[in-house]
Amino acid sequence: MDNTIKGIERGSLPVLVGLACHNCYKETDVQLSRCGGCRRVSYCGTECRNAKWEAHKPMCKALKSLEKKSIAAEMLVSSLPEQPITNLAEIRELIDGQLSICLSLLQRPVTIVEHTWFTHEPRCIVCTRTDMVIRMEAAMNGTTADRRLTPCPQCMLSFCCSPAHWEAARELHQGPSEDLRDGLSQCEKNRLIRGQIAFDTTRASLLDRYRQLIWISRRVKSGWVSLDGLSWQDEFDGEIRKSFGIPATSPSTFLLAAASDTLSMPMTILYGLSKFNNDDGWTRKHALTVHILGANFKEVSCSRVFEEILHRTPQVKTLKLVMCGPEVEVPTPKSGDQAVCSNCAVLGRSYVLDYVVDTYHDFVKQQAEKFEDPDLCVAFNAGASTQVTGYTWATTIKLLLKRKLPTLLTAYNREEAKGDASVLRAAGAVLHPALGPATNPWGSMKGAPTTHSTYGFHVENGWLAGGFK
Ligand SMILES: [Zn+2]
Ligand SMILES: [Zn+2]
Ligand SMILES: [Zn+2]
Ligand SMILES: [Zn+2]
Ligand SMILES: [Zn+2]
Repeated sequence: MDNTIKGIERGSLPVLVGLACHNCYKETDVQLSRCGGCRRVSYCGTECRNAKWEAHKPMCKALKSLEKKSIAAEMLVSSLPEQPITNLAEIRELIDGQLSICLSLLQRPVTIVEHTWFTHEPRCIVCTRTDMVIRMEAAMNGTTADRRLTPCPQCMLSFCCSPAHWEAARELHQGPSEDLRDGLSQCEKNRLIRGQIAFDTTRASLLDRYRQLIWISRRVKSGWVSLDGLSWQDEFDGEIRKSFGIPATSPSTFLLAAASDTLSMPMTILYGLSKFNNDDGWTRKHALTVHILGANFKEVSCSRVFEEILHRTPQVKTLKLVMCGPEVEVPTPKSGDQAVCSNCAVLGRSYVLDYVVDTYHDFVKQQAEKFEDPDLCVAFNAGASTQVTGYTWATTIKLLLKRKLPTLLTAYNREEAKGDASVLRAAGAVLHPALGPATNPWGSMKGAPTTHSTYGFHVENGWLAGGFK
């Protein structure tokens, strides 16, 4: 359900904001030059420009003709606010409006990649101006633009159109962001994101084809330990250092963050289970059953990391996991007993995994009497309020409530979490006070700036949207 960077490589953010070459993806010391046609994409030199031309031509022409349309200029320029805006909802509404103006005036469908270029276009964070709009304004005044957006010199991922707007944006850019754990600011998170992209690029051999790090420690805890008040650092830094041979004197931030991006799933499951159950009885069950709703490539490709659940509940003998969703692509070898680590094998523990290519409500219906209530239903980055995936959440939510199945939904960010929470409440769910909407202590440490937004971040399981039963 990753709708932010679908159709474009993960890690291409520097390209989209003009920090790296559109063709070779390199961030070089050489000054990049912009395409003379659209002035949107940048290249490190003529060789890369020529190599990319055939592929770039349709978008280049479309952007160029859009810029020439006087109706586009009128509509976009008149939508600009007179004063800088620091109200995020207002800014987002403006951007959405401007995007639909651009997309409708193109008068042809856009490809996913083109859409990504539109939605990641750098904008002034307090007035929404883009470089194209600045040029349009100048042309309307009969001049040529003598300025363009300036990036924040520290993070290079946020922009303003003038020193005065940087002044107005300072607090929002450098003060702690309420959308993030740990009180990070937008500028700090941006810098971490750039560092992470660089790490993922240089250490690509550690990552899988989706640029994920699939890692769990083989240590099995001697007993269940509450996760309250613990952090990624507390729980995993020592182990990941040992595992990858990183001395205490070297930083491990990006490695730990890469691991957290996938480990966030089992850790969120454990957190949810501990909150839904009043005592530790669940950690002493013979078998733990978890159903993952709306699963897709992410859960399937990371199936190994769920063994972490066994590693923190040493009295449980079997972990039963069902990955259910219309987007599930069943890998080979498919369902059944999964290989477990030597420590689990010695203890005779097992991990049984099943895939169901269907919506959850249809799966339950089909199972009929065979259906066994799970200990937890979880939907990662559910998007129940955004409807981007076509997954029919309304029907599923109704069923979950009717059967009183303990359920937890996570979301990429505050907006989606709040949106999902209101969908759940409207369906009659009474939300568990500890399970959102709130930032998820076990959300990923990685992230990306939110699509077509000047604020906010898109973090795997970054928010708990709501828990109910
Ligand atoms: Zn290049
Ligand atoms: Zn171009
Ligand atoms: Zn501005
Ligand atoms: Zn910055
Ligand atoms: Zn194990």
